[in-house]
Amino acid sequence: MNKIIRTRFAPSPTGFLHVGGVRTALFAWLIAKQNNGQFILRIEDTDKVREVAGSEQHIIDSLHFIGIKWDEGPDIGGQYGPYRQSDKLTIYKEWAQKLVDKGRAYPDPYTQEELNRLREQAKIEKRPFLFREHRPETFAKWDGSSTLRFKSDPKPYVWYDAVMGELSNGEEVIDDFIIMKNDGYPTYNFAHIIDDHLMEITHVLRSQEFISSTPKFLNLYEALEFERPILGTLPFVMGPDGKKKLSKRDGAKDILDYKKEGYSSEALLNFLATLGWNDGTTQEIFSEKELIEKFSIERVSRSGAKFDEQRLLWLNGHYIREMNIDTLYANAKDYFPKEASAYDDAYKKNVLTIIQERLKFYSELPSLTNFFFAEPEPDLTLIQNNKQLSKVEPETLVSLLEVALKGLDGISFETEKLSETLNGLLEKTRQKPAILFSLIRIVTTWAPSSPGLVESLAVLGKETTLSRMKNALNLLSKN
Ligand code: GLU
Repeated sequence: MNKIIRTRFAPSPTGFLHVGGVRTALFAWLIAKQNNGQFILRIEDTDKVREVAGSEQHIIDSLHFIGIKWDEGPDIGGQYGPYRQSDKLTIYKEWAQKLVDKGRAYPDPYTQEELNRLREQAKIEKRPFLFREHRPETFAKWDGSSTLRFKSDPKPYVWYDAVMGELSNGEEVIDDFIIMKNDGYPTYNFAHIIDDHLMEITHVLRSQEFISSTPKFLNLYEALEFERPILGTLPFVMGPDGKKKLSKRDGAKDILDYKKEGYSSEALLNFLATLGWNDGTTQEIFSEKELIEKFSIERVSRSGAKFDEQRLLWLNGHYIREMNIDTLYANAKDYFPKEASAYDDAYKKNVLTIIQERLKFYSELPSLTNFFFAEPEPDLTLIQNNKQLSKVEPETLVSLLEVALKGLDGISFETEKLSETLNGLLEKTRQKPAILFSLIRIVTTWAPSSPGLVESLAVLGKETTLSRMKNALNLLSKN
């Protein structure tokens, strides 16, 4: 009988989830999904010192935002629970006791000071410190609450990593590491191995930072007589220069910040999936369904993928352009400038329609659409710094505006009529669009850029357009 594929994401609640973390979860989830398997969320909260309050909920919210759902987890339970490590301390203790009984674990006989001294000595003698060389001859009885070490069986391994291929190590990297701490909690090194076994995890996907510890894990699997899951190591996400691990300085942020800034979950899903993975073609846009079909762990790159925020912007813009206006409106509604609350849905939808092409993320909305909702502050530098307009005499600008005002006053503001009238004004004034249209555009929006003139005026409406042009006329006549 074929085994059911079970993958897991096992974050520690030590802060927010960033792109690398969510990508790990996504790849594990895709493997489960494409095999009709199960995906498990497990909270690894055994390091009470590093724990940050609220992280578990934050992790859950981040995964929900991306659209990753789990079949079992701390919030929904399941047959293999508990799914929070702090809720299963007695289970780890039982497994630790089994190792003790087999002679494969023993209480650490040293105090912290003694250990420090041994380490110091090794440093002076310029040799690596290996605990196993100081292993006691006979093991004391374990009282269940003192530090417990694994009695390792150092040996070289050659193993296969689903991403990195064949890997190997020498026996010198395997030491008697701590499996239970004196606060009653297991270490990560021990707890995750017990959990992956009890939860029947078939694939362990995790970040590169665990690769150097893997030989120790292999040794522990053997001592516990556990079947080893498939291991897949995901290289770090690199900063934009491709040289260092992505840091906060390069823009690594909380995945929920992207939600706040108005990124769509489809774009993020697509972005994260293609961070170090492609399907072997040049395809860049993948729906969730396609990702589930096409993802393969063998095609994950062995070197770190570069984090390119421009690509995320491009992808997000792509998804925004693809949305029908009602969906876009529903998604973007809360991001309009506050003055927009005085306007009805139809007006706001019209504004969205004409900026949809240029919108890259929703929190750009206020800067792109302010002038549709509030009277803009006139900024004459927009005229002075305009390449074409700066060359035109102020009197000419005034008379151009007068002619334009007269022309627009007599018509209704439908796009066709507007377009016809504006073109007529070009002929009448014998001006280039770069002069006449730019002038009208600037004085009706006072914004560095805006959607097409005809569309903008049609949405602004006749009254607002003409009143802004009259104000500009007063202003320009005075200067
Ligand atoms: N708790 C570990 C972490 O948050 C997970 C490593 C693993 O997936 O085994 O980094």
